[in-house]
Amino acid sequence: MTQQTTVTPPEGLPDRIRHYIDGAFVDSLGGATFDVLDPVSNETYIQAASGGPDDVDRAVQAAKRAFHEGSWSTMLPRDRSRVLHRIADVVESRGEQLAAMESFDSGLPITQASGQARRAAENFRFFADLIVAQTDDAFKVPGRQANYVNRKPIGVAGLITPWNTPFMLESWKLAPAIATGNSVVLKPAEFTPLSASLWAGIFEEAGLPAGVFNLVNGYGEEGYAGDSLVKHPDVPLISFTGESTTGQLIFANAAPHLKGLSMELGGKSPAVVFADADMEAAINATIFGVFSLNGERCTAGSRILVERSVYEEFVERYAAQAKRVTVGLPDDPETEVGALVHPEHFEKVMSYVELGKSEGRLVAGGGRPEGFETGNFVAPTVFADVAPDARIFQEEIFGPVVAITPFDTEEEALALANDTKYGLAAYVWTNDLKRSHTFAQAVEAGMVWLNSNNVRDLRTPFGGVKASGLGHEGGYRSIDFYTDQQAVHINLGEVHNPVFGKA
Ligand code: NAD
Repeated sequence: MTQQTTVTPPEGLPDRIRHYIDGAFVDSLGGATFDVLDPVSNETYIQAASGGPDDVDRAVQAAKRAFHEGSWSTMLPRDRSRVLHRIADVVESRGEQLAAMESFDSGLPITQASGQARRAAENFRFFADLIVAQTDDAFKVPGRQANYVNRKPIGVAGLITPWNTPFMLESWKLAPAIATGNSVVLKPAEFTPLSASLWAGIFEEAGLPAGVFNLVNGYGEEGYAGDSLVKHPDVPLISFTGESTTGQLIFANAAPHLKGLSMELGGKSPAVVFADADMEAAINATIFGVFSLNGERCTAGSRILVERSVYEEFVERYAAQAKRVTVGLPDDPETEVGALVHPEHFEKVMSYVELGKSEGRLVAGGGRPEGFETGNFVAPTVFADVAPDARIFQEEIFGPVVAITPFDTEEEALALANDTKYGLAAYVWTNDLKRSHTFAQAVEAGMVWLNSNNVRDLRTPFGGVKASGLGHEGGYRSIDFYTDQQAVHINLGEVHNPVFGKA
């Protein structure tokens, strides 16, 4: 096969990526920029403004002004909802262009990038509807008191996002944060800043007031945009999605300010297949679960635990199917696995592939796919017979690599499932109704799917336990995170009022 080493840049690429502050695109105050590579050629295709503390401060001040002096934070939910629906309309109308940009910048297959753009629009529609339907608690003490909850936006929310599904993950934070009346400063991942810059035009077209949405690009580390946002005293909330170790650092850096934190972190989720399961359905779902989104998926079922009596058959069929997964250029609609986001990440994944060769039995993949001598392409890779103390069993690889391990009993399956520091998702395949539920209750995971792929209703809580996260977002949990709940107490008459210092 002849390899094509470049993808044509999508139409409408800006000449460079800038910050967006107070309704205008701006460069960094000091003029700093960084290179952005496309993951097929690994060449710089654009420069992006690199934000520092001054740029973050400028964005935070704009967001604060919009919050305190603008109309957005006090607008009727019905009116905010209309703007949110318009945002969803614009995202839908630009879906093709968004997907093309996202796929070009991140290496995600174009069909999957399109799905992510549709999901982003859904996120806005969902919160547009939720804020209109929202009711708050009231508590009555007959004859004495009435109490109600006064829900208020908090102020400036700092949103820090990763590169794996950039646009969709940004929408997941942006939609509830602004739906509830906050202003935001978004700091997208430095590997994939392109789609984030498109929010500005979308919000302008939908009529979001200037200053409510601000964007600062750049690195995360100390002295750069991410760290400056976390440490900014006028940002009371940080919603972060990324690696667990970064989450720990952010937790520490936010502590002196006692910020509200939502942490969606890494995972090494088990997919547990019992002998009585529908094997074909389990194979299809677990193949999709780890190889879709290039394996760069927080909830990937990257450890498959299979009951020994069907283990060999499962491994054989799974490996055969993994070999048939189509690796290709991100812009090809036939592609199922595209290019990993960045050469640094490619090297990391390849180092795990090499390590896996000494930790397990390689049954599919194991390196670059044939015909792809350059670019960040990794063949879907399957290791069988992986022991629980292997690093490829314990550590998040975040690429198209899966470890398969046998078990003999339900107790052993549960122990293996829980035997990592992570606790994001779990998938259980069995036709035993009782077992599926008892297993779901005992497994250490924030989210469990029974006989199902990762299909998530937007109303359900999303979040992990252990090293996979802190707090939940999704549905009303997002509304809770982005609002204060002030309790108002009303005296209705006979309230017991002790009198001190009576004459
Ligand atoms: P990362 O932690 O390296 O970076 C995430 C973001 O944090 C980036 O924008 C980065 O610039 C910023 N950042 C880095 N250091 C920072 C600091 N000290 N202060 C403030 N910001 C900082 O993660 P990544 O490599 O971009 O993303 C992959 C990780 O994200 C994986 O571990 C994956 O599991 C996780 N993830 C989790 C979920 C979830 O919902 N649980 C979803 C998607 C991805």
